[in-house]
Amino acid sequence: MLKIENLHAEIDGKPILKGLTLSLNAGEIHAIMGPNGAGKSTLAYTLGGRPGYEVTGGTVDFNGADLLDMAPHERAAAGLFLGFQYPVEIPGVSNVQFLREALNAQRRGRGEPALSGAEFLRVARTQADALGLAQDMLKRAVNVGFSGGEKKRAEMVQMGIIDPRLAILDETDSGLDIDALRVVGDGINRIMRKPDKAVLLITHYQRLLDYVKPDFVHVLSAGRIVRSGGPELALELEREGYRDIAA
Ligand code: ADP
Ligand code: MG
Ligand code: MG
Repeated sequence: MLKIENLHAEIDGKPILKGLTLSLNAGEIHAIMGPNGAGKSTLAYTLGGRPGYEVTGGTVDFNGADLLDMAPHERAAAGLFLGFQYPVEIPGVSNVQFLREALNAQRRGRGEPALSGAEFLRVARTQADALGLAQDMLKRAVNVGFSGGEKKRAEMVQMGIIDPRLAILDETDSGLDIDALRVVGDGINRIMRKPDKAVLLITHYQRLLDYVKPDFVHVLSAGRIVRSGGPELALELEREGYRDIAA
């Protein structure tokens, strides 16, 4: 599904990703762990096509297409979803408006008809119920005044509505209490643990991996993958820290 080869990227002329190679097959969940400043968020932003993240080498193939050649909205229409550590607040725009526009923009990009308001509401309510997000939250402005846990639930509702092929989730567990962690973990499993989907789960800590069992764990350090293994690698990192592994 995703094949990253020798990826180099820089911000403001400063090299951050320095020859990163990683492949994900459909049906797989991969965790990326690593110390602060390793380049984890830079990898997520670069794959999402965020302006200012300049690719200076390497290739990224997404289901047979050249991801790096696509505009951010084309990447989304092709099935790429990014979840962020700090979800943005959008005063004046309700969740319903935002989510319906996001979904219909992607459907248009794929040549599919837009959903009517009633059709969309049915989808949105189903996802909100599944995540335990109260229906009235859908009418409120995007993330404005939401608690940390509510923002993460809303993001999982968004992911459920968009129904992406590949989700890249950057520290989606940060700041969550145990209950919210379970809800988010259940959401990731329910929406994304499918034979035709894949997940890149970026996390600093092992605890989310108690809820979402990764098939592979990778350590990102100084802009490259320096170790890969199974779920046991996450436990080893939790025990021993990143210092020796990153060295
Ligand atoms: P991680 O997510 O693994 O903690 P980041 O990808 O956020 O790491 O950051 C990697 C490196 O890039 C760090 O050294 C950080 O200081 C640097 N960096 C991140 N954003 C910027 C920016 N906008 N301008 C300059 N350097 C940046
Ligand atoms: Mg960071
Ligand atoms: Mg980060």
